[in-house]
Amino acid sequence: MKTQRSEQLFADAQLTIPGGVNSPVRAFRSVGGQPRFIARAKGSRLYDVDGNSYIDYVLSWGPMILGHAPATVTKAIQQAAANGTSYGAPTELEIHLATMIREALPSMEMVRLVSSGTEAVMSAIRVARAYTKRDGILKFEGCYHGHSDYLLAKAGSGLTTLGIPDCPGVPEDFTKHTLTAPYNDLATTEKLIKKHYRQLACVIVEPIAGNMGVIPPSPEFLHGLRKLTDAHGMLLIFDEVISGFRVQYGGAQTLYDIKPDLTILGKIIGGGLPVGAYGGAKDIMKMIAPSGPVYQAGTLSGNPLAVTAGIETLKRLKKPGTYEQLEQRSVALSEGLGNAARKAGVPLTQTRVSSMMCAFFTQGPVTDWASAKKADTKAYAKFFHQMLDAGIYLAPSQFEAAFVSVAHTPKDIDRTISAAQAALKNL
Ligand code: PMP
Repeated sequence: MKTQRSEQLFADAQLTIPGGVNSPVRAFRSVGGQPRFIARAKGSRLYDVDGNSYIDYVLSWGPMILGHAPATVTKAIQQAAANGTSYGAPTELEIHLATMIREALPSMEMVRLVSSGTEAVMSAIRVARAYTKRDGILKFEGCYHGHSDYLLAKAGSGLTTLGIPDCPGVPEDFTKHTLTAPYNDLATTEKLIKKHYRQLACVIVEPIAGNMGVIPPSPEFLHGLRKLTDAHGMLLIFDEVISGFRVQYGGAQTLYDIKPDLTILGKIIGGGLPVGAYGGAKDIMKMIAPSGPVYQAGTLSGNPLAVTAGIETLKRLKKPGTYEQLEQRSVALSEGLGNAARKAGVPLTQTRVSSMMCAFFTQGPVTDWASAKKADTKAYAKFFHQMLDAGIYLAPSQFEAAFVSVAHTPKDIDRTISAAQAALKNL
């Protein structure tokens, strides 16, 4: 496979961009080698600057659930662009997207749009603190909630991949209000809450963990969190930046029938443009300026292009059969990979909820960050590079999800499984 142009661009990029990338995990640090520079993408395919094509299971880390450049979304963005790209004044489009979100996720009675997941989480926590008049938050090891200072404690893949246990530049004073518990461990969580609840504003959780590979919640975990937070005057925040509109039309809260107080969305609701959202019960959300005293603002919040892309994406996802198709393709991929691993005698622990999945190179079971970390990252790196050379683009880290899109065809899945059979035999 020719990679000269990517290599040249990576060398050039490193002269002006830290590490040559604008988000760390793109740099292939944990799997070694050089990142591919992408020229364009269409459907299930990425095309790099050397003319190679890849079946893409990263999908921009989740947003591209319709595949790349779906005609309806692209056309709507073009039309919106012709009407101006930002006004700094309200539009009807924003009501339309907020309403679609509220209809799909009834716990989000009011919704505020922002420009990234990080910003949405930061804002949701601010309002949770204001509402409860408490400063502390409880998060789970291996869950990532964006890069705001006080959330960079035990935050999963990106940091682990780079081996940054604690981030320099974050004062201890900022993280002292952040408690962490192991994911899926209700007993430890309960102990922490019982001891500290007077200081704790909220529990924040990825209801399906997607930043330490994919780890589904145990049946009692999320319901237990709901009960504990209710009993102790704390808010429950679901960070559905990945799971929102990924696991079904709605989110993990729809799938598991749990009503969080606040929900965070991103990725899919922007159709590949920069968007985040947070929302929840009216009495909490009314505390946000200008209807209340909690300040939060954004020059590009509710941007007409991003909102248009989000609306068109959700319209397509709402069509009957969409999530059934995603499920079928994902089952086929997951079963094919599992069979290939068994045949090759490679221990693989597979996790999956709908079209988000992971294959941990370990005997398993994988239920939390400690067990995820047992995965053989060297074996993953070897697998990753063989797949890349065969034209299959997986996440450049063991601790990330693979995503399937509406654009992946049965042929794509078959080709991926054949490549995996060969790669696993060679490990
Ligand atoms: N929360 C979760 C669960 C995420 O996966 C991410 C990003 N991968 C974020 C928050 C942060 O979102 P963003 O990168 O848009 O700031």
